[in-house]
Amino acid sequence: MPDRHGRGGELEYLQEVQGAMRTGEIGLAQEGRVATKWWGWGEEGKAYHLPDPERFWGYIHARLGPTEAGSRLDSLERVRLRPPRLTAAVVSKLSRIVGEGGVSTESPDRAVRSLGKGYKDLVRIRQGQVPNPTDVVVWPRDEEQVTAVVELAAREGIGVIPFGGGTSVVGGVEPAGEGLALTLDLGEMTGVMGIDRQSATARVAAGIVGPDLERQLNAAGFTLGHFPQSFEYSTVGGWIATRSAGQKSTLYGKIEERVQGLRLAYPDGLLTTPATPAAAAGPDLVQLIVGSEGALGIITEATLRLAPLPPYQDYKGYLFHDFAEGVAAARELVQSGLKPAVLRLSDELETAPSLALRPARHGLAAVVEGVGLWYLSRRGLRLDSASIMILGFEGTESAVKHQWAEARTVLRRHGGQSLGRGPGRAWERSRYDAPYLRDLLLDHGIMVDTLETATTWDRYLSLYAAVRDAVADALGEGSAVMAHLSHSYSDGGSIYYTFLAPQERGGEVEQWERVKAAATEAIVRQGGALSHHHGIGSDHRAWMEPYLGPSGVRWLATLKSALDPGGIMNPGKLIPELSTDASPPAAGTEDAHA
Ligand SMILES: Cc1cc2nc3c(=O)[nH]c(=O)nc-3n(C[C@H](O)[C@H](O)[C@H](O)COP(=O)(O)OP(=O)(O)OC[C@H]3O[C@@H](n4cnc5c(N)ncnc54)[C@H](O)[C@@H]3O)c2cc1C
Repeated sequence: MPDRHGRGGELEYLQEVQGAMRTGEIGLAQEGRVATKWWGWGEEGKAYHLPDPERFWGYIHARLGPTEAGSRLDSLERVRLRPPRLTAAVVSKLSRIVGEGGVSTESPDRAVRSLGKGYKDLVRIRQGQVPNPTDVVVWPRDEEQVTAVVELAAREGIGVIPFGGGTSVVGGVEPAGEGLALTLDLGEMTGVMGIDRQSATARVAAGIVGPDLERQLNAAGFTLGHFPQSFEYSTVGGWIATRSAGQKSTLYGKIEERVQGLRLAYPDGLLTTPATPAAAAGPDLVQLIVGSEGALGIITEATLRLAPLPPYQDYKGYLFHDFAEGVAAARELVQSGLKPAVLRLSDELETAPSLALRPARHGLAAVVEGVGLWYLSRRGLRLDSASIMILGFEGTESAVKHQWAEARTVLRRHGGQSLGRGPGRAWERSRYDAPYLRDLLLDHGIMVDTLETATTWDRYLSLYAAVRDAVADALGEGSAVMAHLSHSYSDGGSIYYTFLAPQERGGEVEQWERVKAAATEAIVRQGGALSHHHGIGSDHRAWMEPYLGPSGVRWLATLKSALDPGGIMNPGKLIPELSTDASPPAAGTEDAHA
């Protein structure tokens, strides 16, 4: 019987992943919440183990030069916060809504919910800097309590920050400025309320995290097919609020394609969208809410479109002479109508370090690898200067085999050489590992972060190079910038950059801000998406106007001020404020982008 790698044995891959989660092999959250590292990623005690430390650090130091250990407080208790500013009367009103156990003004609870999990967040919390702590955390248990909390906050003029898994990397959960702040943690709203097998949909509460959701869907024979790298800890509500993308989005689509209906608690009440497969009833309210980042209200539940659990999966590695040839192949694959689950192409600079993470081969394995390298070099391919693609299909065995037959023709046309199933298996094993490795690099005083965009195929390579060069210039000597394509569409693809450099001691945040600004300006200048899937939050907000144009920003700001006149919903995120003297352009004139 064939297995998911095409080697034998029918296998429900996702259930196997869950098995690994349960045994702790890949360290995922269990039902409910587990203690996670306040200074990094994942459960306390779980760390990244380098397969070959000598090879890895050799590569890092050759690229970055010497580094010194990063600083980190030894305890969350040592993070000093501004005292909470809500009156006792307001706290007691909150307790009456959610119960006493559902409200906290304790420093540790407030500190870990006042920052996300981006590089800037981790650097600051490791140093005990939480500049804008929330005043109170509340954990509602149902929609009625969410609505009551929002109503109370609106009356009292308190900013409400929805908090799902807190994995935002764009400042999405950090309170803004001086206003009073209430963090509404959806961690108690985690149910799957029903699965409609006929329509292949599920109604789920917004606070459920990826593994808990998949476990319940898989038991009914379904998957959502949404696996962001933050899958272990991020929530359905967070995914929808940020328009997130999973690693298999080329097949299953970004989250916006999987949302059929929503319920949203906002200062004036509760909105429920109709549950239909499609409609022609004016602009789509679901799509207005998807990506609203808590600035319009709180998503309490969603009806999601499901897919059958794939019985068969086959992932392989291919090597191309260079990134440009791989991009041409990726474009042709998707434009020919193929639907890979994974289509991920690393540029030359990312292909090389992926080798630095491999364990060194010994004995027979070393001989086999040597023969493989010789074979590739005869075709002009060198692992340290080529571009690696992970391509995988899943579904029924016959559909997967049929797609592979067509894909092989395209890949050959672009000089792609098969590396077999090994790289596919390695990618699958390690696909949630990067944030654990980030912790290790931070411990060694290395700045490591990622940023992303998307653009059309005609501009793909020029934008890719412009942003890469802007980041490299901002980092200076002794740094590394690499990229990959991981989400492909018929008209274009995403670009995801990773950059590393020794931290500038004492100026870590300023160093990061310099790089971020250079990259974002280059993205906007080149006409790329301001974000493909991380969202806007506070980090990208200043670029919304150059990106959308004054009219686009005015539309969003007008919508916000009508639905949230007190400006209490996640203040300071996503939507720039309209300046009071901004008058609409005269009829017949156009703003920058109109
Ligand atoms: C290591 C790492 C890897 C990541 N990989 C990916 C990836 O592969 N793909 C991807 O798309 N993103 C990725 N991200 C970014 C992040 O995980 C996503 O943005 C994710 O969707 C956030 O989900 P969350 O539940 O953690 O939301 P949070 O971080 O809690 O919130 C994100 C934003 O949504 C708002 N929000 C949260 N819940 C609700 C709700 N119920 N109603 C209204 N607003 C709400 C918050 O206020 C905030 O503005 C990654 C982040 C990290 C740290």
